Amino acid sequence: MGTEFANKHIGCTVKNCEYHCCNDNYCSLDRIEVGTHEGNPTQSQCTDCLSFKEKCC
Ligand code: SF4
Repeated sequence: MGTEFANKHIGCTVKNCEYHCCNDNYCSLDRIEVGTHEGNPTQSQCTDCLSFKEKCC
């Protein structure tokens, strides 16, 4: 299920996420939670969108 709503304050290219705006590279949520899987993050790859939800069929 995709969504038509684009929150222009949150750009995102993760098309596999349930909350990705299907028409553009934006998130559809009002807010997201960002975290890290590293003990001492040093680059952008160390951070994660914790609001991610796998897109279902
Ligand atoms: S929840 Fe996170 S990964 Fe999913 S569309 Fe929004 S910003 Fe992207």
